[in-house]
Amino acid sequence: MKKYVMALDQGTTSSRCVVFDRGMRVAAMAQQEFPQIYPQPGWVEHDPEAIWQTQRGVMLEALDRLGADPGEIAAAGIANQRETTILWDGRTGEPLGNAIVWQCRRTAERCALLKADQAFAARVRERTGLVVDAYFSASKIQWLLDSVPGARAKAEAGRLRFGTVDAWLVWKLTGGAVHATDHTNASRTMLYDTARLRWDPELCQAFGVPLAMLPEVRPSSGFYGAFRLKGVEIPLLGVAGDQQASLFGQGCTAAGQAKNTYGTGCFLLMHTGQTRRTSAHGLLSTMAATLGSEPAYALEGSVFIGGAVIQWLRDGLGIISSAPETEALALSVPDTAGVYLVPAFAGLGAPWWDMDARGALLGLTRGATKAHVARAALEAIAYQCTDLVRAMEQDAGMRLERLSVDGGACANSFLMQFQADVGNLAVRRASVLETTAFGAAALAGLAAGFWSLDDLRGGAPSGRTFLPAMPEARREALLAGWREAVARVRSRQGGACQS
Ligand code: ADP
Repeated sequence: MKKYVMALDQGTTSSRCVVFDRGMRVAAMAQQEFPQIYPQPGWVEHDPEAIWQTQRGVMLEALDRLGADPGEIAAAGIANQRETTILWDGRTGEPLGNAIVWQCRRTAERCALLKADQAFAARVRERTGLVVDAYFSASKIQWLLDSVPGARAKAEAGRLRFGTVDAWLVWKLTGGAVHATDHTNASRTMLYDTARLRWDPELCQAFGVPLAMLPEVRPSSGFYGAFRLKGVEIPLLGVAGDQQASLFGQGCTAAGQAKNTYGTGCFLLMHTGQTRRTSAHGLLSTMAATLGSEPAYALEGSVFIGGAVIQWLRDGLGIISSAPETEALALSVPDTAGVYLVPAFAGLGAPWWDMDARGALLGLTRGATKAHVARAALEAIAYQCTDLVRAMEQDAGMRLERLSVDGGACANSFLMQFQADVGNLAVRRASVLETTAFGAAALAGLAAGFWSLDDLRGGAPSGRTFLPAMPEARREALLAGWREAVARVRSRQGGACQS
């Protein structure tokens, strides 16, 4: 019986490889950073070869650290940074310049024009569940086809391939034999009809993308191909975008189950089963990892400034020297003494969608100290996530009773308890903090018969669960204060829920 499953976790700043044993524990891990390329303000690129070389490097490194025969690896799975766009020559495998990274804003103006066309924006939302934005792959593909000399002619002659990072890795791993992606990654391109499960010809035409360059779309768990590692053949049996991999890794496979990742920003996803829900609060509707031809959907919302508000306390205000310090600091006072920090540094996302709002520190009195401010910063992370939870509950018509959490800032137990209290839900913290990698391993391990769906329903091994313990009257008073603070930072034109 084989002993391990390997996850290739290809992130925005680094490539990682994590090997899990049958007990879902990390048996070995390796990580390599790769360069971020900023050709102009607001533009972000990666070298596709650097992505591939670092990913290959960490696979070999993790295997060395594991010290086991590669024949002990039952399967491999991929979790990847989403939306990042790569074009390459289908014959030579040569990339057509750098990858355009999800964060890149070079097509923002073009997308703003498209979004102003309400019929088009409505069609995008109806077909893809997304809001027209430069974030997604469609306008990035179009930019490459229009800007790289000869690209369009090559695409029309059927010689160019498009892929998000997963498809690029699948292609490289299989030596150019397989051009495929999974439902979750396809659902982030803004070209995929997530109701009919096919590339949408009208949207492809609108963005000038020939259908022939798009990858075949497959279930997230299933056979993609095989590759050789130190002479041994390993089947590639799972692929999912990072947030959906983490949703699966947290055991959220049925309607009403949700996870939240507390990183620089926060990513909250709620599984909605086989029903595609349209949001009335500006949330995205996206695909969750699929186990076969049946679709699976999720609602997704994000908080722009999550852990980043703690970085600001450290680097902007200089009132702390490290992020973990905020826990003891917050607990050193019984409450914020009425102080609210609204970290709308770059506007407010769902459910407010007010890009002109700016941050504020409110309710200060002469007695306010850095402990109150640190506590208000942590509480603000939880309030913003609570706003998303309530929006999702309304969109999905169901109550969320438990939130599975991961990410760097979930190490803060004050924050987790406050999240449970103010959100009035149980917060279950993963003990394996590699839930994204674990999700990729789980999708592959499931297809390999290494784990069963029953094994995986519990998700990554959990550590502590935080239960709500705050009296309702206090919760309501705190939330009313937060809503008032948000109202005071909103711009005059802000306010539309639908973006
Ligand atoms: P990302 O993957 O987005 O880079 P991580 O998951 O590594 O982020 O989390 C890092 C973020 O979490 C940083 O913004 C940091 O300020 C915050 N953070 C890390 N540890 C703590 C802590 N103990 N308390 C509060 N915030 C923390």
